[in-house]
Amino acid sequence: MKIAVLPGDGIGTEIVAEAVKVLQVLDLQFEMETADVGGVAYDRHGHPLPEATLKLAKEADAVLFGAVGDWKYDKLERQFRPEQAILGLRRNLGLFANFRPAICYEQLTHASSLKPELVSGLDILIIRELTGDIYFGQPRGRRASPDGAFAGAEEAFDTMRYTRPEIERIAHVAFQAARKRSKRVTSVDKANVLETFQFWKDVVTEVGQQYPDVKLDHMYVDNAAMQLVKQPKAFDVVVTGNMFGDILSDEAAMLTGSIGMLPSASLNASSQGLYEPSHGSAPDIAGKGIANPLATILSAAMMLRFSLNQPHAADRIESAVKDVLAQGLRTADIWSEGTRKVGTREMGDAVVAAITKKTITKS
Ligand code: NAD
Repeated sequence: MKIAVLPGDGIGTEIVAEAVKVLQVLDLQFEMETADVGGVAYDRHGHPLPEATLKLAKEADAVLFGAVGDWKYDKLERQFRPEQAILGLRRNLGLFANFRPAICYEQLTHASSLKPELVSGLDILIIRELTGDIYFGQPRGRRASPDGAFAGAEEAFDTMRYTRPEIERIAHVAFQAARKRSKRVTSVDKANVLETFQFWKDVVTEVGQQYPDVKLDHMYVDNAAMQLVKQPKAFDVVVTGNMFGDILSDEAAMLTGSIGMLPSASLNASSQGLYEPSHGSAPDIAGKGIANPLATILSAAMMLRFSLNQPHAADRIESAVKDVLAQGLRTADIWSEGTRKVGTREMGDAVVAAITKKTITKS
């Protein structure tokens, strides 16, 4: 098994180091190779996704990714900005299905801005289509407005589009994921206004007929945004397009209190995947040794489960994370009165200790 390790910028290097440490105590045979990505790659090689990094990612079974970006790159031409590396990896690896679980750990219920009873036990999975929609649709650009009340005025435009195969494949992913959970899928659209999303709804409904054991509901995106904060536990698997998924997955992330706890996976048709925390490079806390590494460690667990076929090892990591939370260890972002504040490295060490302790107890 080969893992491409791409730490990236800001806290990326700090949190990925902890995830690598955790992977190394699992007694599995990995080959791990590290490469530059993002701003650091631009500084060293003149491009946020250098050829060598892309080659490594393509050859690997999975990519463990930290985060990219820093304000200092904001003035670069768009193609050289660190975030382009993520889009390039998604495009080149054909990563079309983004899994963002939002799980509220019992010990962190108070960290949510919602009432504890609304989020206690929360476990939802947002599946976002990653390669289509208004983010990639052509044509796009700026021009003089050709018609309407402001004809001749400068305007900008993007194009929202989805093809049938794109919708079908993400719908299959959602229904199959639901089969491993509570067999419910909510498809989120804006079919009342947008042609693209009436088509989305029709195609998801058709695919759903192949999964009679899974209950399918449809919800407009504005209502979904409301229901996520009103009664989030009513959802199980949510499937939606690229833009709605981008927004709703961040909203769902906040239900759990800290973005520092949330892993994510982006998969292609052959289960090759990119695994990264849901948060960014946090330049405000980079280098201070206080970032929460748990989202990245949990992303490594998702990697073991989805791409490397090691579900038992994934369980061990997830169980170790629960153990350290139960011990009262907290990084600053999830700290509260009565718990012990630890830094990035100490948190990683605690997860390693929880894994090795269990191994010793078992043997
Ligand atoms: P961010 O997620 O980096 O940070 C938002 C806030 O959350 C900050 O206050 C930060 O300190 C905190 N935070 C994030 N992760 C944390 C962790 N693990 N532990 C503790 N606190 C944490 O978002 P931002 O500030 O909007 O963006 C910073 C940079 O990251 C930008 O350049 C942005 O483009 C980039 N970004 C990259 C990705 C990615 O690599 N996938 C995703 C989002 C943003």
